[in-house]
Amino acid sequence: MRYLYFIISIITLCFCSQTMGQEDAQQDVEQPQLLEELHEEPQQPDYVSLLFAGDMMQHDAQIEAAYDSITGSYDYTDYFTYLAPMSAAADIAVCNFEVTLGGKPYKGFPTFSAPDEYLDAIIDAGFDVFLTANNHCLDKGKTGLERTIKQMSDKGVTQLGTYLDDADRAQRYPVVLECRGLKIGFLNYTYGTNGLKTTKPNVVNYIDEAAIAADVKKCREMGADYIIANMHWGEENTHVQNADQKKWAKMLVAKGVDHIIGHHPHMVQPAEIITDADTCKHFVIYSIGNMISNMQKPDNAGGIIVGLNLPIVKDMKAEPDVWYTQFHVSWPYESGLKNYNAYTPAVPDSILPEIEIEKRNAFYKSTRDVMSKGAYIEEIIQ
Ligand SMILES: [Zn+2]
Repeated sequence: MRYLYFIISIITLCFCSQTMGQEDAQQDVEQPQLLEELHEEPQQPDYVSLLFAGDMMQHDAQIEAAYDSITGSYDYTDYFTYLAPMSAAADIAVCNFEVTLGGKPYKGFPTFSAPDEYLDAIIDAGFDVFLTANNHCLDKGKTGLERTIKQMSDKGVTQLGTYLDDADRAQRYPVVLECRGLKIGFLNYTYGTNGLKTTKPNVVNYIDEAAIAADVKKCREMGADYIIANMHWGEENTHVQNADQKKWAKMLVAKGVDHIIGHHPHMVQPAEIITDADTCKHFVIYSIGNMISNMQKPDNAGGIIVGLNLPIVKDMKAEPDVWYTQFHVSWPYESGLKNYNAYTPAVPDSILPEIEIEKRNAFYKSTRDVMSKGAYIEEIIQ
């Protein structure tokens, strides 16, 4: 869903739906009719729905597949055919944008610069919030970091994790979005940047206990009812969270973070509920895996979408309201289709080549095995 965002000082206010805006407009001219309509309107949900997607990668094979030689542009619309209904339905949809928009020449691994059309397709799929504190944000140096920020700013989406300079960070971080009166704070940090150093005056949010404590404090001062930390951490290509992830998760909760979403391992890792000394329950998922990539290990070819519903009447002693759905990505050189496609379990086998059916069933089984090792989260088939 696309939202109307208004930046007021350092707080971004999110009005949850276009429908609300249209009704407000009607109120000015046809108030009696609006009152009638209000009686017929279904009640607003008593929660705000967040949705999280994993690592948005862009390898050379993806760039080649997306290229349209007739128009000379890049087309990614197939990526989100089956996922967009979910991201569009969420009040706020968040993704880890793990490439830069550094301009031409476009490049995949190891120093990513994706076509701008990639961002357009993700926005069109309903994503509102883009995380850029990850190990690839300096792949194209200062130019890549700054151009990525500018592209997202120009296209009106919320971006966090990397900044032009200290003043830019002070103005735009933490992000607090307001939806149905609930203020939700978003934080984003990375363990590192592949050994590349930030060019001054740019700023990257690295995992740092003192900085996190200050950011959490500022987030609460900005009125955040909930604080969600989006962490780029862990080891690649493993389903098991490491000691640092567990240590940092505890640290984040101790600093006042409510829930934690993990990225970077390119494979799914389990969830955990951390119960603090006040018996409040904090949801952590150590990794939600890849979104779209050309990574070759079977369990790289997909990931999970996690939904987190935040009650408007906050009760951290209640079980977190969380769900997930998984998806498997098919490759053009196997499917024969032009592009990569992310298939959810609800997509019938009948439209897939046989090799895809076997691969996606194996992926789904592996993911369910991983998820069964952690805190229970309901899997939704859609
Ligand atoms: Zn990463």
